[in-house]
Amino acid sequence: MPSINPDRLLGDLYELRKIGAYKTGVHRPTLSREDVQSREWLAARMAQAGLEPVIDGIANVLGFSRAGGRKMLAGSHIETQNHAGWLDGALGVIYALEAARAVAEDKACAGLGVDVAAFADEEGHFGNFLGSRSFVGALSEADIDQARDRTNGTPLREALAKAGYAGRPRVQIDPSRYAGYFEAHIEQGDTLEATGLRIGVVTAIVAICQYRIRVTGEQNHAGTASMARRRDAGLALVRLLAAIDRRFPEVAGERSVWTTGRITLEPGDPSIVPGGAEARFQFRDADPAALERMRAALVDLIAQANRDGRCPIELTRIAASTPAVMDERFQAVLDKAAERHAPGKHMRMPSGAGHDAQYLARKVPAAMLFVPSIGGISHHWAENTSDEDIVLGARVFVDAIADVLKGS
Ligand SMILES: [Zn+2]
Repeated sequence: MPSINPDRLLGDLYELRKIGAYKTGVHRPTLSREDVQSREWLAARMAQAGLEPVIDGIANVLGFSRAGGRKMLAGSHIETQNHAGWLDGALGVIYALEAARAVAEDKACAGLGVDVAAFADEEGHFGNFLGSRSFVGALSEADIDQARDRTNGTPLREALAKAGYAGRPRVQIDPSRYAGYFEAHIEQGDTLEATGLRIGVVTAIVAICQYRIRVTGEQNHAGTASMARRRDAGLALVRLLAAIDRRFPEVAGERSVWTTGRITLEPGDPSIVPGGAEARFQFRDADPAALERMRAALVDLIAQANRDGRCPIELTRIAASTPAVMDERFQAVLDKAAERHAPGKHMRMPSGAGHDAQYLARKVPAAMLFVPSIGGISHHWAENTSDEDIVLGARVFVDAIADVLKGS
């Protein structure tokens, strides 16, 4: 088996952490000065590892192995949310780099190779998974034309030009080159920590179904409109949301989650009965049957509210993805590697968050591994994982990749 070098692995993570350091975390939004600096740093590291680095026209950083035999693609993303953690994304990219180095150094892996990828803007500063979508051929030039930074409004084209990446070709995956795709990531939840386990083998990445719920009432004076005659859109909306929360546990899966992330009342004045109300509602699961049951329950509850109530409610689906199932054979290989390094301390679990692997899975068999997040904290500068868990995860990750490449 290839052996990882813990000091080299942690050293790279610590060095990357310095670029855009913020408290104990990192502020490295896509195509910011610090982000571009980190991409150039990574490309140089890839070259030192004997890979052929390319930063393409969407800012993906790719390191191609020169090995002549079977190759694995591995990676994640390198930019961060604003004022966020040091491991979200970076961990998977540096694991991939360490895998490339360890496989290249192992005589038993002669001829085999690992390509490393840092996909641009997984964190969605300019759009949705722009880098991995570009890599699998699911991002048009028009998508790029329209994309703007959600924090400061800068057009993506302008940011790419400033970074020096405009006009470069966008590299697309050649699926025949790869045995598959492996991505490691921090769990971002507390399941592993709460159960005392150290490795999560991802079964599927959940689908997210997003809706707009719009209620139409009648705007009126909060003092003079009697309770009997008023049509309060806000009240109708919160009643519906409460009904959803009562019904969903009956139809949802064990790990289903549902969230009302935004509620707006119009005009939103303390002394005016709301004439309009709107909520953004979403639910997630990895099981298509559970998703369908939740969808049907939502439609049914709204139909019932429209029969009984005085304020018409309208449901609009904004977006719906499908669950991305991870390769069963790769999951078994990860189980085996986890059992080797952490006997009895691993579990299979779905990913409640989206990851680049969901797009790569459209083209090649894909796998994901999770390491514990301390306190389940992520998308916050306090995000952390112990060095021991980082090193252990890398051992499992690299072993599994070598296993697949060697065809065992
Ligand atoms: Zn991430």
